[in-house]
Amino acid sequence: MTRRFTSDELYAIRNHIPIDVLIETLLRVPVRHTQNRLRFSCPLCAGFQTSILREKNLSRCFDCGKNFNTIEIVMYHMHIGFVESVNRLKQYQSDLTKQTASIEKRKKLDCPLTIGEIIGDILPPPRQNHSKNPSYDKHAIPKRIDKLEKKFDTLSSQVEKLCRLILSR
Ligand SMILES: [Zn+2]
Repeated sequence: MTRRFTSDELYAIRNHIPIDVLIETLLRVPVRHTQNRLRFSCPLCAGFQTSILREKNLSRCFDCGKNFNTIEIVMYHMHIGFVESVNRLKQYQSDLTKQTASIEKRKKLDCPLTIGEIIGDILPPPRQNHSKNPSYDKHAIPKRIDKLEKKFDTLSSQVEKLCRLILSR
């Protein structure tokens, strides 16, 4: 039997996707911030007696006495198998890399970020009922802001042209 994933791939999936980002932002697991600690709802017992072990990139439920790595937390939270969980995490990882690359590129070009890009990172995760609604698009607001920005750019260049016309008379 051939293995679907190399051990390097699995190592990267377990260690290079920050588990707190995965739980809070990507999986949108309900979380509580108490005393500067992130506690998440355990995917098995739904309790909050949990903690994140950043140095090992693991999450733990004290009630269940169980540690979850990135692959396991996705499996339990989404009720999917190992292979599907790894595939989803690989997708997250490439999305994260692309996002970081495009922001870095803009920084290098000294090109200001658009409001849409900034808002996209700042916006709080949508409420639970939203994420279950298939028609809900988390990119909708940043997209609209992008469109508005482009319209504004067009308008301001038209105003500039008008000003030049008026001044040249
Ligand atoms: Zn638990």
